[in-house]
Amino acid sequence: MSVIERDIPLAPYTTFRIGGPASYFTVPESLEEYRKCMLWAVKKELPFFILGGGANILVSDKGYRGLVIHTKKLKGEQIKGTDITAECGVMIDHLVEVSLEHCLSGIEFAAGLPGTVGGALYMNAQVYKVSFASIIKEVRIFQLKGRELEEKVLKRKELVQSSSYKRSVFQREYYFVSKAVFGLKKAPHTEILSKIKENRASRKEKGQYRYPNAGSIFKNNYKFGKPSGMIIDELGLKGTRIGDAEVYKEHANFIINRGSATASDVYRLIRIIEDEVYKKRGIKLEREVLLIGDWEGQG
Ligand SMILES: Cc1cc2nc3c(=O)[nH]c(=O)nc-3n(C[C@H](O)[C@H](O)[C@H](O)COP(=O)(O)OP(=O)(O)OC[C@H]3O[C@@H](n4cnc5c(N)ncnc54)[C@H](O)[C@@H]3O)c2cc1C
Repeated sequence: MSVIERDIPLAPYTTFRIGGPASYFTVPESLEEYRKCMLWAVKKELPFFILGGGANILVSDKGYRGLVIHTKKLKGEQIKGTDITAECGVMIDHLVEVSLEHCLSGIEFAAGLPGTVGGALYMNAQVYKVSFASIIKEVRIFQLKGRELEEKVLKRKELVQSSSYKRSVFQREYYFVSKAVFGLKKAPHTEILSKIKENRASRKEKGQYRYPNAGSIFKNNYKFGKPSGMIIDELGLKGTRIGDAEVYKEHANFIINRGSATASDVYRLIRIIEDEVYKKRGIKLEREVLLIGDWEGQG
């Protein structure tokens, strides 16, 4: 089985560059090892957390008491006809490159999206109203049943029916993505390339990569008539700062780490936004960023 290390700081494995240590940390090199790592934690009665690109999480300053299984080496991929099969640790932007190389269209909407296949499926990541659930043909998973892990295949119909805006079956069940098949279609190289370029440029232009962050902090709820970022902006919260955590001036739904922000700084800022939006607009924002680890007495 892959080496299990002790007390590994998680900050470098997150796009926020924030977070305390994992008491146990491992990087499996194959899907079989990945399975064994999960079983190792189950047998020891330790909680475990699957870490992809760390692009949607805020890890507590106190870290995570359990086993963190990082999927960065689970990078197998295969092309068959117009399908691409990718293991859970494949980076989305890499998948976009592979699709372009093979003139396969359908995933260019996600160009420039940080994170992995596993994370995108778990979050049902969405860009310009297109979500991951809509391009998936099937997903192979490990399902935790008691102290055992069973392999199972989820078919497209089941995935689509169980998904909605930024929600997926993976958030509700003990399902862990091992690999996924993306059903794409042939299209001219130039057409795919121009969409990819446009999407990457738009993210760059919005300053999304300028400072460490975890993307949108809150989900949008169109019942409120406008995106969460606009509501936060209208309340004049852009630029509000605690320590090195700041409501991004370029996009009010982002919190940036200006260098040495702690998880506690970010958390306190999140609470300020939530309180202000509730007090002044009567709106309860729903968090998109996931708080990971030990938050007792934090913030
Ligand atoms: C600059 C920036 C821009 C962003 N823009 C967008 C955007 O436009 N749209 C959008 O939807 N999101 C956006 N995000 C958020 C983020 O990119 C997505 O949520 C992404 O899908 C997270 O993937 P990840 O691999 O980093 O997941 P992580 O942050 O590592 O994990 C997120 C969750 O997925 C789970 N997970 C990871 N791998 C697996 C697996 N193999 N099996 C089961 N569960 C797993 C984790 O346990 C965790 O609960 C943005 C983030 C940043 C930093």
